[in-house]
Amino acid sequence: MNAPAKISPATLSKLAKLGIHHRTDLLLHLPLRYEDETHLAPIATVQPGMNAQVQGVIAHSEVVFRPRRTLVCRLQDNGGELYLRFLNFYPSQQKQLAEGRQIRAVGEVRMGYYGLEMVHPKCRAVDDDTPLQPSLTPIYPTTAGLSQIVLRKLIANALDTLPLGDTLPDALLQRMKLAGFADSVRLLHNPPPDISAASLEQRSHAAWRRIKFDELLAQQLSMRAHHRERGKRTAPGLTPQHRLTVQLIKGLPFALTGAQQKVCGEISRDLAQPHPMQRLLLGDVGSGKTIVAALAALQAIENGYQAAFMAPTEILAEQHYLKLRDWLAPLGISPVWLSGSLKKKEKQAAAERIASGEMLLAIGTHALFQEQVEFHKLGLAIVDEQHKFGVQQRLALRNKGKYGAGRAASTGSGQASARQESVGLKPDLQEPHQLMMSATPIPRTLAMSYYADLDVSVIDELPPGRTPVITKLVSDERRDEVIDRVRAACMEGKQAYWVCPLIDESEALQLQTVLETFQLLTQTFPELRVGLAHGKLDSAEKARVMTAFKAGELQLLVATTVIEVGVDVPNASLMVIDHAERMGLAQLHQLRGRVGRGVAQSLCILLYQQPLSELARARLKIIFENNDGFVIAQQDLQLRGPGELLGARQSGVAMLRFADIGADEDLLNEARQAADELLRDFPEAARGHLQRWMANKHDYLHV
Ligand code: ADP
Ligand code: MG
Repeated sequence: MNAPAKISPATLSKLAKLGIHHRTDLLLHLPLRYEDETHLAPIATVQPGMNAQVQGVIAHSEVVFRPRRTLVCRLQDNGGELYLRFLNFYPSQQKQLAEGRQIRAVGEVRMGYYGLEMVHPKCRAVDDDTPLQPSLTPIYPTTAGLSQIVLRKLIANALDTLPLGDTLPDALLQRMKLAGFADSVRLLHNPPPDISAASLEQRSHAAWRRIKFDELLAQQLSMRAHHRERGKRTAPGLTPQHRLTVQLIKGLPFALTGAQQKVCGEISRDLAQPHPMQRLLLGDVGSGKTIVAALAALQAIENGYQAAFMAPTEILAEQHYLKLRDWLAPLGISPVWLSGSLKKKEKQAAAERIASGEMLLAIGTHALFQEQVEFHKLGLAIVDEQHKFGVQQRLALRNKGKYGAGRAASTGSGQASARQESVGLKPDLQEPHQLMMSATPIPRTLAMSYYADLDVSVIDELPPGRTPVITKLVSDERRDEVIDRVRAACMEGKQAYWVCPLIDESEALQLQTVLETFQLLTQTFPELRVGLAHGKLDSAEKARVMTAFKAGELQLLVATTVIEVGVDVPNASLMVIDHAERMGLAQLHQLRGRVGRGVAQSLCILLYQQPLSELARARLKIIFENNDGFVIAQQDLQLRGPGELLGARQSGVAMLRFADIGADEDLLNEARQAADELLRDFPEAARGHLQRWMANKHDYLHV
């Protein structure tokens, strides 16, 4: 056995950039691709686009200045010739590539100015006896200043010196027909020359399957650990009193659907437990999640606890505020409104009433969490449109609820825990229950993996009397017809939305576009009352516009995608989405969900501009053909992969590195089974497996 390699501090910091903190992490730093230096390709057989290793004699070597200083060498073997071209080169290289030298070159073959060429190939001087590589050469993901050679050495050393024992029991390996761990990593780092290149590239080789299985299993185990750990934390047991909740239901102008009753039951049972609920409520747009949230809040309130209800946009939060205010007024409960745009004094007054416990229900935007707001006795936190929030915000909320926490308001979990330590809090403090709601349905595979630590309730039924929205795709050339249609609908007493295009990375441009569209449509429709809503309006103005639209005083609302989430105006039955090709599927589905909320037949017109990219075409086809949010989400997952769906960049959710839950659903199912079995029968193996895969992957464990 070799001794472990000594690693310099400079190299250590570069490895850290690659997420390699432990020597075992080196084992799992797997190649991106391979170069084949196990055999030589006769030059006459190489084609543009191929990666090849060739060998020959330099027939000519010259520095040319077209268009800039370039070293061009002509390499000849028995049957053919190709050019090696270097834009940056050292004198030593020039010497190495002098006429008459025998050279082995590896690189991608292209069609160049002179004929077939390799640009910046890897070259070395050889003689007739220089042996070929015994295995494919791995190319690793790396970072500036860390060469493949150094990485390869470190990894080879780790393979030689670290224990590679299997974490999984033999019986399980055999039954699941899985390759051994040691064989798999060795093979992936040093594949033999006769291996199928396609099976490596597509990651379908048994060795890849084993690695992906292991990764998914680790994810399942850690999510379950998380779930179980929740059972050890304490929350107030909020037993149903059937007082306020029953009163609210009696006063509603509608009866709850079966699906709503079912999820209310699930939530109610969780709230009664002395452990924090972390439940995700999924329901398509318009399925009636708000009333479910209101009932959950009342269960907290009737137990003498406070509830917080948070929404991602001011418009949506305000709408919830107004709706709950009306619903709860007959019960003698008035919510307090809390938003970032309140004046300092108002905010302070609201915060004081929350801190004193006088106000039992707080509704608002992020401000609820980010400002110095402290609850007297928070029993339940509700987060609407959960996918719009990051994990950090969710955690901040959880920390807010801890009772006796002194002045512990803060924005991030890190800060919060630091402060808690500093005031010497005990870990057994109570924390609030959490209800997260989302209209972006999570495909089954995602729910089974990234959300496996949460409990999920689904509203799978729309309230009765809804007619599905008709969707039309209309090319921008027919914009005038669309405008006529809007006029006609509004003249009939209907209301319409005109959603302006999304403009990447430029709020200023987006603002300009919505203002121009507003001006244009106001001029085009002098007979109509047109309103304007966008993110830069101050909140009083925004509220005024939304109230007027809701009351039917405005017939047409020109808006940016601020209306994307949650806005509920049942009389609106026409929606035009301008430049629909720029929007994502979830967004289109959400926007379309703003209509079809009343009894009238609704229409959604997707105006698009040619030419369409492949992706835009695929998206428009999906949204045109499907009304069911779950189906759309599943297809979205296939189009984009999980990262975008999860909003991983903002949420910081650890992503899978090797497995692809779109393509590896079978492995995911097997990993779920195996996780059950390990936890039940082989808890030691489960621990060992987590250690190999999760050492230092704290991001899994703190979601
Ligand atoms: P979402 O799930 O998209 O948040 P909302 O809670 O905004 O949906 O509900 C959409 C509309 O349906 C609201 O106007 C709401 O009052 C109404 N609604 C909710 N539940 C029912 C029901 N059981 N029957 C009829 N209408 C309902
Ligand atoms: Mg909603």
